Order: sequence, then C-alpha cells, then structure tokens
Amino acid sequence: MKPIVYITRKLPEEAIKGLENSYEVRMWREEEKPVPREVLMEEAKKASALWTMLSDQIDRELIEAATDLKIIANLAVGYNNIDLDAARERGIAVTNTPEVLTETTADLAFGLLLATARRLIEAEKTVRSGEWQSWTPMGMTGQDVYGATLGIIGMGRIGEGVCRRAGGFDMKVMYHNRTRRSLEDVEYAELDELLSKSDFVMILTPLTEETKGMIGKRELDLMKDTACLINVARGGIVDEEALYDALKERKIWAAGLDVFEQEPLPLDNKLLELDNLTVLPHIGSAGIRTRHQMMGLNAEAIAACLAGQSIKNRVC
Ligand code: NAP
Repeated sequence: MKPIVYITRKLPEEAIKGLENSYEVRMWREEEKPVPREVLMEEAKKASALWTMLSDQIDRELIEAATDLKIIANLAVGYNNIDLDAARERGIAVTNTPEVLTETTADLAFGLLLATARRLIEAEKTVRSGEWQSWTPMGMTGQDVYGATLGIIGMGRIGEGVCRRAGGFDMKVMYHNRTRRSLEDVEYAELDELLSKSDFVMILTPLTEETKGMIGKRELDLMKDTACLINVARGGIVDEEALYDALKERKIWAAGLDVFEQEPLPLDNKLLELDNLTVLPHIGSAGIRTRHQMMGLNAEAIAACLAGQSIKNRVC
C-alpha cells in the first residue's frame, strides 16, 4: 500500500502530479469551501503527509489522532494555524513556504499602503456609482506617500522587500523587531517611538503569543491622527475593536487590512461600515507564479520526507 498524502483544498493538477506515482494522493476537491473538520480528522488518521492551507486548524487533537503522520506542509510562510508543540512531541515535521512569496507579498503590502493613503478603492466607487460630478480642489484627497515616514513592525524578509519599494518613494524608514539588525538607511526604534513618529505603520510580524493583540487602544492612541495602519501579516495582531474605535473617532486617519481575526470577514462586521478602511481578502502572496512556487516547495518537502531525505523549509 502506498503512503497517503492528503491535500486539504483543490490544487491544480500540475502541482500534485509529481507525487502521484509514489503516493496515494487524496484531496478535498472544493476550491472555495474549506474541508470540514470531521472529514479532515478522518483523512488525517490515515495520512502519512498532510498538505494544509492557512485556513485549516491543525491542532493537538488532530495531530494526536494522526498516528501515521510524518509531515505537515503548509501552503504559507506563516504557520500560526499549526500546533508546533504537538507536532514536535510526535516527531512530525512541519514546513512552510518562505522566500518565494516575499516580493509578491511586499508588492501587495506597498499597493495596499498606496490604496489606503490615496483612497483608491473609495475613489473608484465614485466613478462607477456616478457620484463623480466634477473635479474639486480637495475632492478625494489623501495622505502623501512620497517622502513620508514608514514604520515597519517586523522587519524580516517581507519587511525588507517593502523597504526596497519605499526607497523609490524617498520614504524615511524605521523598524521595530525584538532583535536589532544592521540595515543601511533604516533606523531602529522602540515600538512607542515608531508608532508616534510614523505616517504609515505597517505590521509584518508572525502571529504568535507575543504579537497577539500587539496593536491595541494604547498603541493606536500613540499614532498620529494623520497616520495609516497597514496589516498584511495576520489578523489578531491588531485588536479589531480598538481599531474600529480609532478609525470611527478619527484618532488615526485610515487603515488597510489584508488579514482579519475571523476570515472570511463576516459581512455584518462593523469594520465594514467605515469609509476610512480599505479591505482585501488575504491576497498577500496571490501571484500566479508565486503560488505555483509555493506549491512546488510543499510537494518537494513531502516527497523528501516520505523518502527519508532531508527536508527543506522545516519550522519544526
Ligand atoms: P520573517 O522573515 O520571519 O520576518 C518576521 C519578522 O518579525 C522578523 O524580523 C522578526 O524579528 C519580527 N518579529 C517576530 N516577533 C516579533 C515581535 N514579538 N515583535 C517585533 N517583531 C517581531 O517573516 P516574513 O517572511 O517576512 O513574513 C512575515 C509574516 O507575514 C508571516 O509570518 C505571515 O504571517 C505574514 N504573511 C502574510 C501574507 C498575506 O497573504 N497577507 C503573505 C506572506 C506572509 P525578531 O525575531 O528579531 O523579532
């Protein structure tokens, strides 16, 4: 009997064909709908490899039930959806997809910054709805990006990519990490200083116990009333209740979010009532070439693991 590889969402044929000769590849064949928990539980019990999406909760209960499991390959660079301690205890490898998505996610992050600052999506709606009556001196004006100060919280791979883009806009860049790095033309700042001095605050840390709720009322109060907050990292790092209040009371000028505490963002979420919020459906790494490269890394890791070879991009 061939070892079973279970894929939790419909992936393109070419992404999985390399595995099909040696393994029994099973797949949840829906593209839009995530695999139901009970189906995933049953499949995990039989699988040697799980190829997971960031929307799957791979928790202790599931990991302990998956007695044959050797690897969990996650189609993302973030892995906050997986209980690493449980995987480690069972000797299960967990892999992610770093590097190949860095530039694509940096593009989106900078694009969201521009869209938020210059109200691009709001402005487009006025054209389509007929609200655009005439050119007005202060109509649809936003925050200037060129020459502004950008504060990056989490200056890692994607942060550096955003920094390179910010250079073309002559922005002054400051960053906050747990460890200082030696980077040219970029200044380290403590979190409070970064928040109070930046025109744009961009979050690019992983979601961890430490970063959960990192940006709450106190932090938003420190920001300028002309500042924009951009989150392309993970929902849960920003306290959405506090963000709603800050945007509603115009304590900060605007925000751009690609990620949310609950995804998809429910239509009745009050954040959607705000006109100074730009929202995207978690598309940071959604480039066609990039997604194929990410899948390539996952397939490679699964094949290496099941063949007893060394595994790249292990996070545990
Ligand atoms: P990375 O290279 O590991 O960078 C993360 C940075 O965050 C590191 O420099 C780290 O520095 C810093 N950090 C970690 N914990 C921190 C804390 N408590 N306080 C301050 N800084 C902290 O990761 P990456 O490849 O740039 O990706 C970053 C995140 O972006 C991922 O984890 C993922 O969740 C998210 N992402 C989202 C999308 C999307 O579709 N929206 C796409 C790709 C990635 P220190 O360790 O020195 O603190």
